[in-house]
Amino acid sequence: MYETLAMYIDGQWCQGSEGRTEDVLNPATGASLGRLPHASRSDLDRALEAARKGFKVWRSTNAYERAKVMRKAADLIRQRQEHISQILTLEEGKVIAEARLEVGTTADIIEWMAEEGRRAYGRIIPGRAPNVRQMAIKEPIGACAAFTPWNFPGITPARKVAGAIAAGCSLIIKASEETPGTCIAIVRAFHDAGLPAGVLNLVFGMPNDISTYLIGSPTIRKISFTGSIPVGKHLAKMAADGMKKATMELGGHSPVIVFDDVDPVKVADMAAAGKYRNAGQVCIAPTRFFVHESNYKKFAERFTEIAKGMKLGNGLEASSQMGPLANARRIGAMENFVGDAKAKGAKIAAGGERHGNEGYFFRPTVLTDVPPDAKVLNDEPFGPVAPIMPFKTFDEVIERANALPFGLAAYAFTNSTKTATAVANEIESGRSEEHTSELQSRL
Ligand code: NAD
Repeated sequence: MYETLAMYIDGQWCQGSEGRTEDVLNPATGASLGRLPHASRSDLDRALEAARKGFKVWRSTNAYERAKVMRKAADLIRQRQEHISQILTLEEGKVIAEARLEVGTTADIIEWMAEEGRRAYGRIIPGRAPNVRQMAIKEPIGACAAFTPWNFPGITPARKVAGAIAAGCSLIIKASEETPGTCIAIVRAFHDAGLPAGVLNLVFGMPNDISTYLIGSPTIRKISFTGSIPVGKHLAKMAADGMKKATMELGGHSPVIVFDDVDPVKVADMAAAGKYRNAGQVCIAPTRFFVHESNYKKFAERFTEIAKGMKLGNGLEASSQMGPLANARRIGAMENFVGDAKAKGAKIAAGGERHGNEGYFFRPTVLTDVPPDAKVLNDEPFGPVAPIMPFKTFDEVIERANALPFGLAAYAFTNSTKTATAVANEIESGRSEEHTSELQSRL
C-alpha cells in the first residue's frame, strides 16, 4: 500500500549511488514503512546538471503546452486520490479524511498554477522620450531548489513544484525525509503526464548537507523553503551569500480573539476543530485563545469537553478524530510546553500527556490560567495544545495579540462589522494574500 521509495533524477527513478538509506516510520505505530535512499554528492551533481538541461527545454516550451502537462498531472493525482491519501496518512499520521482533502487540494493547486502560468502578463511602461516604449516581461528565473517539511506532504511540495514549473523553471525538490511517499506520488504523476526529463528532480538525504550543496551551486537561481524560523534564517543567509532570491514560509503563533457578542459554545466548536486539525501541526493553526471575560467560562468549558471527548487513533481508521503527532520530536516538545506552563502556574483542563505507548499520540490539551511568560505563549507550539486566556478590553487584547514577532495568521470572532473592521485595521498579521484573505474570511 505504501510508495516505492526512490529519488527521481533526470527523468529516472533511482537509489543513492553510495547506498545510504534511512527508515521512514509510521507515526501511529513507530514501525518502519521502508528505507529511503540518500543522495550522494554525485547524485546531487546529476540532479543539478539535469535541472540545468531541463530548464533549457522547459523555458522554450510555451505556457499552453506546460499547462497541458500540469493539468494531466493534476488529473492523475485525482484518479489516484485514495491511494495517495493512504500513503499520506501512513507516513504523516493525519486522519484519512484530512489526507483526502489535502490530496484533492494538491491537484487543485497544480491546476490553478497551470492556469496562472498562461497569464504571466508583462506591462508596457510609458517611456520618457516620444519614440521609446518600455516593456516588462516575466521570464522564468532558472533552475530552483525547494525544501519542504512533513506536516503537509502533499500541498507544500505541490505549491513549490507547480509554481516553478508553471513559470517555466526547472526544480530540484528535497521533500521531508519523514514523509517522502506523498511527494514521490506527486512526482510520479508529473512523470506519467509526460513532463520532460530534468524539469523536475526529487532528492533526499541529510537536510543541511543537501541544502548547503544545492544553494551553493551556481546552477540554482532561486530557493524556496517551508519550515521553522531558525532553519529559514540559515537558508536565507546562504541564499544571500550567492545573491539568490529566496521565498520563505516559516512559523506562526496565531491569536484567536473571541469577543463578547458571539455564542461562545458555537465558536468553541469551530475553534477546537481548527486547533486539533492535523494534531495542531499547522503553520496557521489557531494557538493563542483570548476570550472576552463574559464568554470565558462557557468557551473554556466547551473547548475542554471537546478535547476530552476526541477519539485518538490510527488515522486510517474512520472512527479516529485525531491521529498521532508526526514524529517523536513533537512528543518531547509538547511535554516541554505543558511542563513549563504547569511549573509557572497554569492549570491543565484537559490532556497534558502522551496517550498510550505505541506511536506518537499526545492527548488534546487545554491549558487555562496561563501566565504571559509561559513558553507556550511565546514559542510556536505546533501541536495539540490550546492555551485559553480571558481579556477585558479591545485595546488590551490587540496589544496581547500583537505582542509576538510572528504574523502568519490571526482569527477573530464577532457579530459586529465595526469590531471586525477595527480588528482588521489593528492586528499585525498576514504574510501573503492568501493569509490575509484567511483572516478576513474568519472575521
Ligand atoms: P526543522 O526546522 O528542523 O525541520 C523542518 C523541515 O525543514 C524538515 O522537513 C527538515 O527536513 C527541513 N530542514 C531542516 N534543516 C534543514 C536544512 N538545513 N536545509 C533544508 N531543510 C532543512 O524542525 P522540525 O523539528 O521538523 O519542526 C519543528 C518546528 O518547525 C515546528 O515546531 C514548527 O515551528 C516548524 N515547522 C513549520 C512548518 C510550516 O509549515 N511553517 C512546517 C514544519 C515545521
